[in-house]
Amino acid sequence: MSWEENVRKVVPYVPGEQPKIDNLIKINTNENPYPPSPKVQKALSEYSSDDFRKYPDPTCAELVDALATVYSRKSSEIFVGVGSDDVLATAFLTFFNSDKPILFPDITYSFYDVWANVYRIPFKQMPLRADFSIDINDYMGENGGVVIANPNAPTGLELSTEFVEKIIEANRDVVVIVDEAYVDFGGKSVVDLIDKYDNLLVVRTFSKSRSLAGLRIGYAIGCEKLIKYMLDVKYSINSYTMNMPSLKLGAIAAYDKEYFELTTKKVIETREWTKKELKDLGFSFADSHTNFIFAKYNGEMSRDEIASKLRERKIIVRCFNGDKVKDYMRISIGTDEEMQTVIKELKDILK
Ligand code: PMP
Repeated sequence: MSWEENVRKVVPYVPGEQPKIDNLIKINTNENPYPPSPKVQKALSEYSSDDFRKYPDPTCAELVDALATVYSRKSSEIFVGVGSDDVLATAFLTFFNSDKPILFPDITYSFYDVWANVYRIPFKQMPLRADFSIDINDYMGENGGVVIANPNAPTGLELSTEFVEKIIEANRDVVVIVDEAYVDFGGKSVVDLIDKYDNLLVVRTFSKSRSLAGLRIGYAIGCEKLIKYMLDVKYSINSYTMNMPSLKLGAIAAYDKEYFELTTKKVIETREWTKKELKDLGFSFADSHTNFIFAKYNGEMSRDEIASKLRERKIIVRCFNGDKVKDYMRISIGTDEEMQTVIKELKDILK
């Protein structure tokens, strides 16, 4: 008998690369191309290293209260974590504790099956239709829970609020997680439905629409009881999840509504311009409501060849493997200038 037999063996998630290359157009991990709120910069410069001598507030009150104010909820309805990855992982561990499989689409955020595996949660991946849309009938049977990214990633497609509600309604005996990582780029949130459904948990992030991927801030909104159960699990693993600057700077970013609206609007406008240009170049894609476009080239050149030619020109996009997505590349929306360069280089590559 070897100690290795007792190891919790898992196949890990592979994050997008973060290369350190000067002048790289980095459109592979859906970061925001604009800096965080200028108020964040100002607050950052006021820190003294002595501030870090003590533990941060385990209740994360400053950030929780800011989110409660901004979204007109009670603080007891909000959970914060180290990026929405941490929030989602905690939610999986807390709520998916049944022998029945949890359900999520076959093409979605590729961390869901990894968390299910690491926590030994049975799961079933429901095939999307050929146009990447969700058939809500797939989520009506017996299950141990449901996870829907809305808008979905990497497809960018949105499921209507009416259909999300039908899924929540049909699954009152389990928790339904709606991952709204990209909702701020023109999607419709179901957060108001938490007043109606105590089995709904909405998860969001500061990594995309608030330009703070590097600080790792995510949050969940749900009824008081759901949040209490998540806090019990959090305090059973790590009391001090959020570091001190994240709590303060996150709160400042949350309050800066004006800057948030300005930058998300800018990303949406650039996305719409990029869609038009990509279409003219012979790409097709589902209608994205996010800060990325999941595009397929309909001409002769393969996706991998296009991606590698872009890379030679210091532009990196994200490519996923798997039969249904092997012809697609996910293009995050950068600044206007960056996207103009991307389109110019694509024109040259495909000519
Ligand atoms: N959900 C979805 C659908 C995502 O695409 C991402 C980004 N990789 C996340 C959650 C996690 O984001 P973060 O941990 O940076 O909040």
